[in-house]
Amino acid sequence: MFTNEELTSRNINFEQNKLNTKLVGVTFNDRQKVISGLNEGELLTLARQFDNEYDVNAVLALRSDGKEVGHIRRELAQELAPAMDKGCQYICEVKQITGGGELSKGVNIEIKKLSETLTYNCFTCARNYKTKTEAENCCKI
Ligand SMILES: [Zn+2]
Repeated sequence: MFTNEELTSRNINFEQNKLNTKLVGVTFNDRQKVISGLNEGELLTLARQFDNEYDVNAVLALRSDGKEVGHIRRELAQELAPAMDKGCQYICEVKQITGGGELSKGVNIEIKKLSETLTYNCFTCARNYKTKTEAENCCKI
């Protein structure tokens, strides 16, 4: 049978349930100012941005006060967004602030999948369940 890993994130290359990437769009609006106040180790919230007109899969990284830090890069958001829409939750930790001085600041992050919120998909109809048994029995005739 399929493992949790395969059921929930088949297309995301999570090594041991986590991956490292950097945020994009960090120079828009007041984001550079927000980034100046960030601390390494700080946890950000990943939120779906449903009204993004350029990308239906847009995922924003926000500080706890709701201020925007940046977006998850498009290729990764394409994989994360559908999983998030099905109930998967991820935590996002600031690993490193890059740049500064004359350069714009960047944010390296680590995204971890929250295992306790794993859900299971029926492989026939893709409906989402809280338990593996429910998912396996979904389309069983
Ligand atoms: Zn089904």
